[in-house]
Amino acid sequence: MPGMVNYTDRLTRLMCDIVARVPALSFINMAEVLVFARYGRIGSEGAFATCHCLNLPTTEPGYFFWRDRASGQMTRRSEWFVTKSPVVMVDGQVKKYLISFTLPRFCDQSLSRSRKEKFYRRTTDDWIAKLDTVIHELYHIDPGSNGIRRIDRVDGTCEASYHGGDFFARVAVMVQQYLDSAPSPEIYEFLRHDFATFESRDGGIVGRAFRPFPSYPQRFMERLEIQPACDPAVAGVPIDPWRHRVSRVLYTDDDVHLRHFMRDTSRAVSQRPRRTRLPRHAGSRQNVSVSVGLQHSADAHETFGPVGRGQMLDAHDAAGTGRVDERVGTKDDADV
Ligand SMILES: [Zn+2]
Repeated sequence: MPGMVNYTDRLTRLMCDIVARVPALSFINMAEVLVFARYGRIGSEGAFATCHCLNLPTTEPGYFFWRDRASGQMTRRSEWFVTKSPVVMVDGQVKKYLISFTLPRFCDQSLSRSRKEKFYRRTTDDWIAKLDTVIHELYHIDPGSNGIRRIDRVDGTCEASYHGGDFFARVAVMVQQYLDSAPSPEIYEFLRHDFATFESRDGGIVGRAFRPFPSYPQRFMERLEIQPACDPAVAGVPIDPWRHRVSRVLYTDDDVHLRHFMRDTSRAVSQRPRRTRLPRHAGSRQNVSVSVGLQHSADAHETFGPVGRGQMLDAHDAAGTGRVDERVGTKDDADV
């Protein structure tokens, strides 16, 4: 598709420039971050972007269970499982983080009436909202490579929300730092345009996506081959057989493709993955090795689908015999 703007490549190039100019984000090795696109209609509800991590250890074994509301008795439970993430190896590099953008919705994000507007009162340029979102997602990357960044309180504990404390204000400061560093306008110029401009001027936008679209690497539950013994107190509780489909454990270049994102739909435009060229400085840092098969992920903004088809799900184990990943069944903040 000659002429079309490769939006995920532009975002990747912008992020490389940002981490080179904003000191608080300088720890990020963009070679370990993969930017990809998901579909989102302009004007519809939903996230503009999401940071997904792939670098947390596999959870302790656990199981879901259900209790009778009146008696509190456990009525049934799932089999034991662990939660892991797939390994994403693209462009010869194991990725620690994925950052997704919803296209074409992101192209039309504006500052007006958004919750970030108050941080940019002196700015009349609506496109700053997009730069804010890009830096927002980068700020979710944890300096210790430990999942999604937790925001520290002065007392040493962490904020309950990934967006706690002065998260949004810090992002606004970094946006200003980046612009004050006099970056080449050519790097961020694409953020100035809305989707209609790309359509009329360039014939549209394309972006890297996973196949089969719209799926993408997500953390998953894996049934334990050897089921541990349970506490005798719950020994007689009926066990639901494991019904989850087998999840992908490895994604490679063959699992990504280029996609044309249109106003009402999207379609694949190439069968071969397209490599993103990184500036020299981005790939020159020491890579931290990642053990294949021993990682799991947690998305800052995504709810892990509960089992049980809408029945009561309790993420805590009253009997003390099993642990369920603390994030399972929790609601995180809506994304920007
Ligand atoms: Zn966020």
